[in-house]
Amino acid sequence: MSVDSVIQQLKKRIDDFESNVDIREVGTVVEIGDGIARMSGLTNCQSSEMIEFPGGTIGVALNLESETVGAVLLGDYQHIKEGDVVKRTGKVLSIPVGDNFIGRVINPLGDPIDGKGEIKAERVDNIEKIAPGVMKREPVTQPVQTGIKAIDALIPIGRGQRELIIGDRQTGKTAIAIDTIINQKGQNMKCVYVAIGQKDSKIARIVAKLEEVGAMDYTTIVSASASDAASLLWLAPYAGITLAEYFMDKGEDVLIIYDDLSKQASAYREMSLLLRRPPGREAYPGDVFYLHSRLLERACRRNKEAGGGSITALPIIETQAGDVAAYIPTNVISITDGQIFLETDLFYKGIRPALNVGLSVSRVGGSAQIKSMKKVAGKVKLALAQYRELEAFAQFASDLDDATKKQLDRGARITELLKQPQYQPMQVSVQVAVIFAANKGYLDSIEISDIAKWEKEFISYLQGAHSNVLEAMEQGWNEDIEKNLIQAIEDFPGISK
Ligand code: ATP
Ligand code: MG
Repeated sequence: MSVDSVIQQLKKRIDDFESNVDIREVGTVVEIGDGIARMSGLTNCQSSEMIEFPGGTIGVALNLESETVGAVLLGDYQHIKEGDVVKRTGKVLSIPVGDNFIGRVINPLGDPIDGKGEIKAERVDNIEKIAPGVMKREPVTQPVQTGIKAIDALIPIGRGQRELIIGDRQTGKTAIAIDTIINQKGQNMKCVYVAIGQKDSKIARIVAKLEEVGAMDYTTIVSASASDAASLLWLAPYAGITLAEYFMDKGEDVLIIYDDLSKQASAYREMSLLLRRPPGREAYPGDVFYLHSRLLERACRRNKEAGGGSITALPIIETQAGDVAAYIPTNVISITDGQIFLETDLFYKGIRPALNVGLSVSRVGGSAQIKSMKKVAGKVKLALAQYRELEAFAQFASDLDDATKKQLDRGARITELLKQPQYQPMQVSVQVAVIFAANKGYLDSIEISDIAKWEKEFISYLQGAHSNVLEAMEQGWNEDIEKNLIQAIEDFPGISK
């Protein structure tokens, strides 16, 4: 054998050499407390990598410094002491996903917390993913029917949109989100409700309600409750969107609700301060905008080439005394495609949902409205805008001319008509019919206090005697349909005495 061929062979063996020894970097805990650990020795640790602590507790590396690595712990840490040995896992934080998660309540690590046993996962996905770029997206053209008249008519939401629900505490934010989930029955929509920092009792009530109306058949609840560690509250929305993306990857439409991101931001602030990151405005860390933007960017409508499917996101933000100019509210307002603004004053006046029609907008949803709704919605907006303007004047003027009076009456009736009780989402064609009647002045002769009664009786009359008109309105709008609807309204015998 020549020297050359020996060298060749050796080279080949060196190239083919594969190390199957599992070398894992280990480190030592140098500081532990408040759900945060600082470790030395993990020189090659990546950002967001999972670190294994004694007893199987998992931590996430967040601060990579020259001498130490700072991590938040996602679980019990009372047993961990200084000097304990920790191991790198080499894996970025990920959670299990799959179809079996539907109908279940899980924590942000994907573990079931509803006592219904283990969940068999399809695969494990990274919780951080880069959002689809603009070439993979397409315009929003299909509606998400919330079943709430005021929203579907005035602030319509489309599949793939991000619409913020914002308001003070106890203004009906959660109610809108839950009604929207309930209304997705039979709409080919998977729902993910992420509860962040809520009381366990509240979450239990929501689960019970969704089960009662059969909405758990297409819903998953991800919950990090008020008693959980800040790290889990921070993680919950990312876990939710990772599961939502699993469904989108199958070409499905998904609705995700984050209730609420204010609490996630506070949890992140707490973690960041404990990790000794420099505090910025309102003591939030400098990257709190990125916390929400990278999350909400992942909601989108993907085009066919990229696999299709959509994720519609309804983030919720709680304001203090209606202050929408605070740090976190302005951040999230600027990221989303519009906001549903709820007000305490309106709530206590009995206008529920307590929607401020003037300050609420939907920047993309209009193109997703069905034809018949689009036809009637414009007039309602105009009537309400005029009503708001005149209402302020009318308080001073004693005698008003007839035209003004008429506008005031119409506005008051439409406002009354847009009230809607909780857990009673309404089919879109029915919404169109009652709004159409109000626009055409058929309610002008009805006492305001009788409007709810009129609505109820009129709807059951329509559904009984004119279901074909309702069906036609779901499909479109033309003169014939309009004529039939007017006929139906005129034939309505009137409310019972
Ligand atoms: P929190 O700040 O505590 O999260 P929230 O803004 O989410 O409150 P909800 O919990 O949804 O508000 O609602 C507050 C209360 O108002 C609840 O008791 C709920 O039942 C009631 N409520 C909400 N919407 C309506 C409605 N459309 N009609 C009647 N009552 C409603
Ligand atoms: Mg709430």
